This record gives sequence, C-alpha cells and structure tokens, in this order.
Amino acid sequence: MEGDSKMISPVLEYLERLHSKIADQLEGEVATYIPELARADKSHFGICLATIDGQLYEAGDTLKPFTIQSISKPFSYATALADHGYANVCQKVGVELSGDAFNAVSLDPKTGRPANPMINAGAIASTALMLGDTPAAKLVYMMAAYSKYAGCPLTIDEAVYISERDTGFRNHAIAFMLRNFGILEDDPVAMVDLYFRQCSVLIDCRDLAVMAATLAAGGNNPLTGIRALDEEHVASVQSVMGSCGIYDYAGEWTYSVGLPSKSGVSGGILAVLPGYLGIGVYSPLLDARGNSVRGIEVCKELSKYFGLHMFNVPHSTRAVVHRSYSGREVSSNRQRTAEEIEHLSLPSKRIRIYELQGELVFGTAEVVMRDILSIEDSLDYIILDMERVTGLNSIAYENYAERMR
Ligand code: GLU
Repeated sequence: MEGDSKMISPVLEYLERLHSKIADQLEGEVATYIPELARADKSHFGICLATIDGQLYEAGDTLKPFTIQSISKPFSYATALADHGYANVCQKVGVELSGDAFNAVSLDPKTGRPANPMINAGAIASTALMLGDTPAAKLVYMMAAYSKYAGCPLTIDEAVYISERDTGFRNHAIAFMLRNFGILEDDPVAMVDLYFRQCSVLIDCRDLAVMAATLAAGGNNPLTGIRALDEEHVASVQSVMGSCGIYDYAGEWTYSVGLPSKSGVSGGILAVLPGYLGIGVYSPLLDARGNSVRGIEVCKELSKYFGLHMFNVPHSTRAVVHRSYSGREVSSNRQRTAEEIEHLSLPSKRIRIYELQGELVFGTAEVVMRDILSIEDSLDYIILDMERVTGLNSIAYENYAERMR
C-alpha cells in the first residue's frame, strides 16, 4: 500500500457499513414483562462475527452487557447431551416443533415430555439435568459450562434474576407440570429457579459471537482452545436451533438466512455457520414474535451479502484430486540398488499415484474411491499422497482410507 493509508478488512468495512445503514431503524419494542428489560437502551446495537480461528470483527455496541435469556437454551441442552447422552435426554425432552408459543405449557399429553428444548418446558427439563447434588452445585456447574463457550467467566444479573423469579408464574406452572409427569425428578421450585438464573446470565454481543463460533468450530472455543462440547453433539444442538431457535419465524428464517440460530427476548441473536463462523447481534427492539428487529435484518443482509446460507454448499468434490498419474510418468533422482530398480521398473505402469487435497469427507472420498475401483484391475499398487489433505473425518477414514491399506 502506498503512503500511510492502511488497508482495512473488507469484512470489517462491510460490517461498519451495515451497522450504520441499520442503526437509525428504531422499529419494534423492548420487552416489558419485567422492568429491568423495559429499561434497555433502544439505541444499543452491536454486530460481531467470530471466525473458527478466533478472528473477531465488530461494529457498534459489542461490549454492552445484556441477559442471555432464551439464547441459553441450546447451551443447557448441549450440556445435558454431553453429560447424559441422547438416549437419556430424549426421555425427558423431544426434538419436534411444538407449534405453540415458546412459553406454552405444551407437554405431550401421555408422557408429559416437552416437544423440544427451545421452548421453556424443554429448557427447564434440560436445565434440571445439570450435574450436581444440590441446586447450588448445579448452578456452579452450569456457569462453568457456559463460560467455556464464551471463553471468559460469566456472571448473573441479580436484579433480572429476582424479577424473573418473582413474576415467572407461568414458568413455575410449567415446572410443576414437569414434576407431575416425572420429567423433573428434583424440586420443581429449585429447578425453575435455576432456569431463571440461567436466563439472567450476563453476556455481550462479542460473547454471543464466540459462543456461536464455538459451535461452528465443532465444540472447540476458538479463543481459548478449550473444548466446550464433544463434536458428536454439535450437530444435534444446531438441529434444534435450526428447527425451533427463532420462535415462530423458523420457516422464513431458514429460507432467507439459512443458519441455525437462537434469539432471546432481551434482543440478542446468535447464528452459526458450521465450519466457518459465529454471528452475534444485539439490539433490544423486538418484533411481535419476540425477535430483535435489527438482529433479523443484520442476519438477512449478512447471509445474502456473504452467501452464508448453509444450503449453499461451498465444497466441490471435483477438486479433491490435485493430480493423478501412473508410476511410469514419474522418475526419481534417488540412487537405487539394482534390485530396487528391477522391483520398481516392472510394475511401474501398474502403479497409480493420487495426490489428494483438501478435506476427505464422504463426498470427496467417494469420488476418489470410485475412480480407483474403476481401474483397480489394471493396478498392483495405489499410492495416496495425502500431503495436501487438510482433514480426514472418520467416515472417509473407515470406508475408504482404511480399506486401501
Ligand atoms: N426469561 C424468559 C422466560 O423464560 C426468557 C424468554 C425468552 O428469551 O424467550 O420466559
């Protein structure tokens, strides 16, 4: 670059443009069911992107604290899956859309099982699965689990917690119903209390993006390198976010944004682009469905501009073979013994070398294997040169690479 002008990241440049384009929009209402949320500053508006290698791009008020509210739900569900496994957790909470409002007392009439972990009933059931012999121990455990996602210690907004507790009669009713059906095994008052504390965890927009990026990175926090969730549960958590994370806006959201997400009544939205990045947006002005108006707008714009929709699959299977050639086409400068020369020269046309590149997953490994199978009869040796391979998942390894040994 000439002179003193410093190059600015096009991502940051775009975020700043987007932020100032939307900053003046003041449609929507802040949540008013408790005074603490009603007092939120309408002008607060932050956008943060966190990549899976820990790069942060921020615009606006990314460090203003707010309570996590419903955005906590996927993280409690994730913790339950990690500690108890899917088979046990699904006895207590399903993964189906409820068709009801997030705070409806919607339990399966026969089993009492909540439809999914993103409605309050399913969230309270997940929260109760926190490890710990006492509610206090469960709280400590929960805070430690959440902090691993955020990559820093988190605290609780006591005033919000007390208001939630003192006015949350519907959530109390849900907890008692869950206890009635045996979905909650502990004291329902203590478990709903833990849920209120969970909703009152303080975060900022940057935390949201890092929590999302931790899911995007397969459960590993990109800032601390600490694993928050085993990879095997990451897709499960994102699935429930994808189907029921955005209140009654899931269909339109999947269509126009196409990222597993979770929103909360305090105005946060967290969205994940698996394998790439996490998005956090904060603006307390909500639409009639309870989603942040500016948050929705930002996610729509970001998805469109950067082509983030998860069904736009970026991988091309064609590029997996960097080069492929027969043994006859290569020579070596290495000094060899007469015996080695004889051994190598005879079958050289029956040797095939595949220089592979990128990620070996089902789709890319299948392309290579198909090619090999089609010429297998004419070969004695197949050499897979993996020097340019950046990753190999277990499916590719067990079904393809392992068989070639
Ligand atoms: N504390 C709220 C409740 O449980 C959370 C609402 C939300 O963010 O959806 O009712």
